[in-house]
Amino acid sequence: MADPKIAKLEKSRAEWKKLLPPERYAVLFEGGTERPFTSGLNQEKRAGTFVCAACHLPLFESVAKYESGTGWPSFFQPIPGHLETKRDFKLILPRTEYHCARCGGHQGHVFSDGPAPTGQRYCNNGLAVEFVPEGEPLPKLRE
Ligand SMILES: [Zn+2]
Repeated sequence: MADPKIAKLEKSRAEWKKLLPPERYAVLFEGGTERPFTSGLNQEKRAGTFVCAACHLPLFESVAKYESGTGWPSFFQPIPGHLETKRDFKLILPRTEYHCARCGGHQGHVFSDGPAPTGQRYCNNGLAVEFVPEGEPLPKLRE
């Protein structure tokens, strides 16, 4: 459920296309999926925050990251209220898609085979987020 305090950022696809590198745009706004084991963030183990690569809203804290072995950065919990979900019927079996609650940028899919304490696995495209190490300022929210 989206945090009602988050003001939606409304931008056209054309605007996002101008702002983002093509590979990030394809994942965030065309529902693309990066190839597994291609994101440098798979190996990222430092303390910090993962922010939306489109609008910079913080989405995950590093304490919720874990190694799922799938080849995509995986988390057992988002920052509450910062993601929204919808059902996705692209494959035969319905999946639950999730996206940034502020800009609507696609992030990944959530499955119920994650570790304790939530039992959830947020399987995220590395291209859809940026990592900010602890101690560094978070980027300003994109307007
Ligand atoms: Zn966003």
